[in-house]
Amino acid sequence: MKTIGLIGGMSWESSAEYYRLINQGMKARLGGHRNARSIMATVCFEEIKQLQHAERWDELGQQMQQAARQVVAGGADFVVLCTNTMHRVAPAIEEVLNVPFLHIVDPTAAALRVAGVQRVGLLGTRFTMEQDFYRQRMEDRHGIKVLVPEDAERDIVHDVIYDELCHGIVRDESRAAYQRIIAALQADGAQAVILGCTEIMLLIGPQDSALPVFDTTALHAMAAVDMAIADHA
Ligand code: GLU
Repeated sequence: MKTIGLIGGMSWESSAEYYRLINQGMKARLGGHRNARSIMATVCFEEIKQLQHAERWDELGQQMQQAARQVVAGGADFVVLCTNTMHRVAPAIEEVLNVPFLHIVDPTAAALRVAGVQRVGLLGTRFTMEQDFYRQRMEDRHGIKVLVPEDAERDIVHDVIYDELCHGIVRDESRAAYQRIIAALQADGAQAVILGCTEIMLLIGPQDSALPVFDTTALHAMAAVDMAIADHA
């Protein structure tokens, strides 16, 4: 079994979900008391958040490179970055790695393709919804058209992530706001919605959404399990 290298802390609320899902997934696959071999480097999210909002992506890339080096030095056979947003600097991470990097868009796209989804709504931070790094990979590599909410709705989605979910706060009013935004994406032609921020699964489950949900946290975690046991005898 390979050792999974996790870059976490963005926020720790979702990193804890990754840890739980990866270990539960490993047990489901292999049985007994089998859990995943893993190592996590946890960064300080306050620093990360400030750099993100100042658009200082070069420094963020350096911080992610440092965390990637830490997990590889600790024995990681491949690297999983436990946040969608920070995939903005995935190329910088891959530059310093001599082991594979499991990009969060790829297992998400694979699941969407299996389900036959061609037009998908994307919820995430403003960075993920508005910048090219995420939708371009989804559209160019995987051929899936990405729709995002209107400007004012993007504000709501973004603020709920940073002001509530990353603090572990889950509010019914915010769930209702997300439900309205998902319904608007559906009216625009989305066939499904990507929970493209690793904390959204704390707020929205399949039962809360008018559209089928594709939860990046769960899909990424299970892809990590599959990669760790790919050559398991
Ligand atoms: N975990 C979130 C994501 O998946 C947001 C936190 C961050 O900015 O990294 O995008």
